Amino acid sequence: MRTTFQLGDVTIHRLVESEPAAGLRDILAFFPNLTPELLAESRHWLCPDALDEKDRIKLCMQSFVVQTPHHTVLVDSCLGNDKDRPAHPNWHRKRDTAFMDALAAVGLTVDDIDVVTCTHLHIDHVGWNTRLENGRWVPTFPRARYLFSARELAFWTERNAGTEIPWIVDSVLPIVAAGRADLVRSDHALDDHLRLLPTPGHTIDHFAVELGRGRMAGVITGDFIHSPLQARYPEIRMMLDHDADQAVATRRGMLERLCDTDTLCCFAHFPSPSCGQVRRWGEGFRCEPAA
Ligand SMILES: [Zn+2]
Repeated sequence: MRTTFQLGDVTIHRLVESEPAAGLRDILAFFPNLTPELLAESRHWLCPDALDEKDRIKLCMQSFVVQTPHHTVLVDSCLGNDKDRPAHPNWHRKRDTAFMDALAAVGLTVDDIDVVTCTHLHIDHVGWNTRLENGRWVPTFPRARYLFSARELAFWTERNAGTEIPWIVDSVLPIVAAGRADLVRSDHALDDHLRLLPTPGHTIDHFAVELGRGRMAGVITGDFIHSPLQARYPEIRMMLDHDADQAVATRRGMLERLCDTDTLCCFAHFPSPSCGQVRRWGEGFRCEPAA
């Protein structure tokens, strides 16, 4: 499985935490406006990589590490260990070494990460922000600053004040309490090789991550798209979309912009190799896996 990509002087590493065991969901529930007819028509090209024989979508759970000449950045932090997730039996208090092994496999330790950023504050993108130490949630990356969208954080903090949201409590607020969060706009430029790219809809202030000096050489999508099926049919909604119409417009707009360019697109939840170039396919798009 290919895990490292080079874009000029930017290196991208995939850190796969689980594929696909932790990410199997009934596809008709996951995509509420997907019809059984369209699914039947699409099954032959979705199976076996993106769909299993029980019509469950197969999602890769992964983070990306980006090394620019100035920073080593973790983009999204997956599920994490020891988290109370009774609604998700596969994730509940899990204790595996996959994520840390993947970090070690690319020659890095937690001390090497300068910046952690979360494309949005959903459960599967914040987990390794923290780890359990003597009964307390502490930042996993001892030297890192954590870049969050101010608007996204405000939204989830307010929602959490109403009814506690476990992953906000154990994986986001401890970072804020430790004084390690930097709140930015979703178009923030970290350095001359890495910029945030507003891609709202799936959540209120979702961003993607744009890589490359002076051009979009690469993009890490976060969850403005979840499956190759949503590339072929960008109008397919995801069950958790904050504003589904906006999410559709963002997805189609981004795919149109990326189509027929050499931009390396790193799709957060696409099956391995998860990365490639966007090409036109009918009224929609497909990802041509990176060679
Ligand atoms: Zn996700």
